[in-house]
Amino acid sequence: GPEPLWLFGDQLGPHFHGTAENRDREVVLIRSAAAFARRPFHRQKIHLVEAGIRRLAADLGDRARIIDAPTYSDGLRRFGRPVVVHEPGSRAAEALVGRLRDQGLVTDVLPTPGFVRSKKDFATWAEGRSRFVMEDFYRDQRRRFGVLLEPDGDPVGGKWNFDHDNRRPPPGRSTLPVPAPYFPSEDEVDEQVRADLDRAERDGEIHPVGVDGPRRFAVSQAEAEQALDRFLDHRLATFGPHQDAMLSADWAMSHALLSVPLNLGLLDPLDVIRRAEERHRSGTAPLASVEGFVRQILGWREWIWHLYWRLGPDYLKKNELRAHRKLPRWWRELDADSVEAACLRTVLAGVRDRGYAHHIERLMVLGNHALQRGYDPAELTAWFATAFVDGFPWVMPANVVGMSQYADGGIVGTKPYAAGGAYIHRMSDHCGGCAYDPKKRVGADACPFTAGYWAFLDRNADRLRGNPRMRRPLNGLGRLADLPEVVARENRRDRF
Ligand code: FAD
Ligand code: SF4
Repeated sequence: GPEPLWLFGDQLGPHFHGTAENRDREVVLIRSAAAFARRPFHRQKIHLVEAGIRRLAADLGDRARIIDAPTYSDGLRRFGRPVVVHEPGSRAAEALVGRLRDQGLVTDVLPTPGFVRSKKDFATWAEGRSRFVMEDFYRDQRRRFGVLLEPDGDPVGGKWNFDHDNRRPPPGRSTLPVPAPYFPSEDEVDEQVRADLDRAERDGEIHPVGVDGPRRFAVSQAEAEQALDRFLDHRLATFGPHQDAMLSADWAMSHALLSVPLNLGLLDPLDVIRRAEERHRSGTAPLASVEGFVRQILGWREWIWHLYWRLGPDYLKKNELRAHRKLPRWWRELDADSVEAACLRTVLAGVRDRGYAHHIERLMVLGNHALQRGYDPAELTAWFATAFVDGFPWVMPANVVGMSQYADGGIVGTKPYAAGGAYIHRMSDHCGGCAYDPKKRVGADACPFTAGYWAFLDRNADRLRGNPRMRRPLNGLGRLADLPEVVARENRRDRF
C-alpha cells in the first residue's frame, strides 16, 4: 500500500486525511510529551489539542495509530516505517521534517490544504510588489477564487469592503440579541483527557495557566461541522455590525468561535468561505456581514499565515519602539481579580476562564495596554501563543509583533493601535462600572488607558514623528499642560 500519513495535531480534518491521494493511507498521530511541557500553556488549550487527536484516532478506527513518545522523532522511529507528511505550521516543525527527511523517516512533504493559497502562489503574487498590503492581497484572493464576484469580475455590491458598516458601537443593552453559539457536549474522550491532565499537573509534568472548564470549542469533524452550521444559520447575519464592539456580559457577541477548529485543521477554509457566500446568495445574511466574515478568513487569516513565512525568524526579535518591560506577574498568571480597570479585568478574566478573547479585546484592550506600558514584544508574543486556545506559532508574529505592538515599525500596520479610554468608552460598556474615569488623565481616578495613551505618545514621539498618520495625535500632545504630571505618574504606575 501507499506510505502512511503522519498528521500533526493541527492537521485533523478530512481535507488532510480524506482526499483521494490520502484516503488509503494509514494515519500516524504522535503525542509528544515534550510538546506542552516546555511552556505554561492554557489548560484548556492542551485539552483541546489532546482531545482533537484522540477524537480523530477514534473516528478513523483501525486506520489510525497513536504513538506516545518523548519527541516526534522518537515517535516515528518507534513506528518504524517511512511516512509522508503535509507542510507543517511552524518553522521549527519544518526544520524537524527536513531532518527526518534526511534520515529517511519522511519520504515526501505534501502541500498543506490548511490554507487556501499555496506558498508558491503567494510568492508569485508578492514578487516585485511595491505596495504590500492586506487589502490588495484580499482583492486578489477574491478574484482568484471567484468569491463574491459579479460575472464581469466586479465585487458583488459594488465595493470590496464593507468595514464602514461594521464598526458600530454596541447597542444599549448588556448582550447582543443573537442566538447562542454552538457549544460541544463533552464525552468520554474529554473525561479521559481531563483525568490525564489532572495527573500530569499533579506530577509536575505540565504547568498550565488558566482554569479548567467545560470544553467550548469543536475538536472533531462532526463538532466542527455543527459549529460552522450553527454560525452560518444563526449568527452570520449579525456578524458584521458590532464586530468591533465589546460588552462585559457577552464574551462571544456574534463572533464565529471558529478559530480553534480552523487552526486545528478541522475545517477547510475555502469550504467555509463558499458556504458563507451561499448565505448571501440565498438572502439569509446581508452582504456587509458575509463580506466581513469572508475578509477575516480569505483575507486576514491567509495574510497572517503567508507573512509568517515571508517575514522570517528575525521578525520575532523586532522591537522598533524599544519596549523592554517584563510582563508583570498578574498578567502572566491571569490574575484578573487584582485588576481595577474594568475593561482589562473583564478581558483578562476571559483569558483565564476560557483562553479566549475576541479580536477587538485582544487588539484594543490587551495589545493596547501592552503597547502603552512598553511590554517586551517577544515576551508578549510567547504569552499570546500559550494563553490562548487558538494560539499557534504562525499566527503570532504578524498579529502580535506587527499589528498589535507596532514593533516592526510599520510593516504590517500603518500606525500603532494605541487608544485612550474614550475609544474603549465608545466601543464598550466597560467604563460605566469602572473605578476609573475615561475622561481623566490625572488624579486618583485617572483612566490608565487615557493617561497611558499620552505617556506612550510622549515616550515615542521622536520615533513616531515621521509617520503622517501620527501627526495629529502628536500635535495634541504639545497642547497638554499637565503632560509632565501625567508622564511622571504613569511611569511609576504598577497597578491598573
Ligand atoms: P471571528 O471574529 O469570528 O473571525 C472569524 C475568523 O477569522 C477567525 O476564526 C480566524 O480564523 C480568522 N481571523 C480573523 N482575523 C484574523 C487574524 N488577524 N489572524 C488570523 N486569523 C484571523 N487568531 C488566532 O487564530 N490565533 C491567535 O492566537 C490569535 N492571536 C491574536 C493576537 C492578537 C494580539 C490579535 C490582535 C489577534 C489575534 N488573532 C489570533 C486574530 C483574531 O483575534 C482571532 O482569530 C479571533 O478573535 C478568533 O475568534 P473567532 O473565531 O470568534 O473570530
Ligand atoms: Fe477601561 Fe478606563 Fe474605561 Fe476603566 S475607565 S473601563 S480603565 S477605559
